[in-house]
This record gives sequence, C-alpha cells and structure tokens, in this order.
Amino acid sequence: MPVLSYLVFWRFRRGLPPAVGTWYNIAMDKPQANIGAKTRAIGDHRRQWRDCLYVYPVLSRRARGLSIGVNINPDKRCSFGCLYCQVDRHIRRNLDHVDLDTLGAELKLALDAAACGEIWDEPRFADVPPEMRRINDIAFSGDGEPTSKAEFDKAVKIAADAKAASHLPNVKIVVITNSAHLHSPQVARALPLLDANNGEIWAKLDAGTQARLDTVNRPRPARLLADIVDGITAVARERAVVIQTLFFRIDGLGPDRAEVSAYTDRLREILDGGGLIRLVQVHTIARSPLSPSASSLPDEQLDALADTVRQAVPEVPVEAYYGTDAKPQRP
Ligand code: SF4
Repeated sequence: MPVLSYLVFWRFRRGLPPAVGTWYNIAMDKPQANIGAKTRAIGDHRRQWRDCLYVYPVLSRRARGLSIGVNINPDKRCSFGCLYCQVDRHIRRNLDHVDLDTLGAELKLALDAAACGEIWDEPRFADVPPEMRRINDIAFSGDGEPTSKAEFDKAVKIAADAKAASHLPNVKIVVITNSAHLHSPQVARALPLLDANNGEIWAKLDAGTQARLDTVNRPRPARLLADIVDGITAVARERAVVIQTLFFRIDGLGPDRAEVSAYTDRLREILDGGGLIRLVQVHTIARSPLSPSASSLPDEQLDALADTVRQAVPEVPVEAYYGTDAKPQRP
C-alpha cells in the first residue's frame, strides 16, 4: 500500500472515549491531534524530494515528526490492484532492479539533512513547529509493494546501516506491506534485521473472505486469503504487528455485517494462532481512488466499524482514521 499517505492524510480519530485513549497510550505514544495542525507540510505528500529516486521525507502528524519515506517501487508495480489505490500509474519509470548504492546515498542525504537541522530550512518544512522537528522513522512505503522486491532485505540493511551511521538508534524502520509476500525469502532475511533495528511490520488485512480479497485487493497473481492470514500470523508470532485495514464503499455500499464478522474472525485466527497484534488501524479512503466505484465511509460508519472490531478483539487497541470525499483518479 502507498502508505506514507497513511501517516500524512489520515485525520486522527476525534473524541476517543477514555478507555480507548488509555489503550492507545499503552500501545503507542500519547496522541496529540493538534500538534502541527496548522503546518502546511502535513498536507504535502510529494514523493519527489530534491533529485532523489527512492527517498522522500514527509512530515507526519501521526508520528509527530519527520518520516523518511523509502519508495523502492518507483516502477509502480504492485502484487495487488486495490480498488482504492491512490497511486497514479499514468506515469511509470522503467526500472527492473533497486539501485542499492543510490538508495544508500539518498538515505544518508536525508538523514544528515534532518539530523543537522538543515532540512527545516526547506520551504516545504519552513513552518514546522519546534516540537515536530524530529525524525520519527524510516518507512518502506511507496508506489508498490516493497516486500515483493528481491532486494528488499538488502534495502532494509541499508536503512539500518544509514540509521547507525547517523547515530539514530531510536528511529524506527517501519515496513508497510500488503502482506502478500510474508512467506518470501527476502522477508525471512529482513525480519532479523528489522528486529535488531527497531523495526515494525504494518500489515494490510482488508478482507475477511476470499471473495472480498478478490474484489477489493485483486491480487495478481491470485492469492488465497488463508495464505495471507497464515503469513501475518507467522510473522506476528515473533514480534507484534500493526494491522492496517481500509474499509470503504463500493458503489455506495460499505462492507456488510457478514464480511465484517468474517474479518474479525481472521483477526481472532491470528491471535489464536499465537500472533501478537499491537494495534489495528481502521481507516478509509482519503485520497483519489483508482476505481470510480470506490468512495470513503462517513466518519460515523467508520467509528461503528471500529467499535465492532473492539468488541470482537477487546485485547487489541483499535484506532480509526477518518477519510475525505476524494474524486476518483482520471481514467
Ligand atoms: S494496489 Fe493496494 S497494495 Fe498495491 S500500492 Fe496500491 S493500495 Fe498498496
């Protein structure tokens, strides 16, 4: 999923009840929804920074600081074809491999610029308040699925090395994944690196049924939902994962009760299988979707869905992030 938008565009759920707020405080840092609310950089989601091919720093309200995005899919290829995908694929780059040397140089450039404070002089970051002038994470996200790349683990190693060279041990490495490649050799090789370097896996799970997966995520080639859930469970047995779920309307209709029930069954399956879920993030469309049939859920419906998830898996914190009415991408 192109998820740096995840950090930048989702509006933090308003009016959390106290109990939920407590869960959230346990699971993550204390939410401060208004921090940086007037900062223009919060809405600036450009993936182009200087002359870089792979690296794009963005300001994240949710992270309350800078997120160094890593897009190792500038070719915009993805193993899913989600109806709600926000990636504009009208322009693609023809690249058949990840240039690891370039990635390393770009990460060093971004981390150095952020660490020495020079980055805050750039016009797009000029009005960022002092409390947000910090590096929160390096996030593998972008215009396709990062874990599908054979060089994924090497890219993680470069991120870890860049972090160490810049003396930033507390900066996280976040991997935003569509969960379709969690059984792959490159992910198996990357996991120990992530564990040793403050890494986190944020795994997409949008469907409770095979039919929903096929309709919403449209895996290419076809994939079994059971395999995807099994992959998440296997990874989550060793480290707690964040589950990201996007609920939305198709031709005006949100997911029905049976689908939501099947979805919470899949969460329960992960937990019963020994998987650890640190957080479930429930969100909806916030930027122009690929399909004209896809539209965001109203805030109250998203809240209701989040409450349903909380009731089904009360031991897991659940956050909801509102969307916006976004016009579909041009055909
Ligand atoms: S198709 Fe789906 S998984 Fe792939 S980049 Fe788009 S939203 Fe992410």
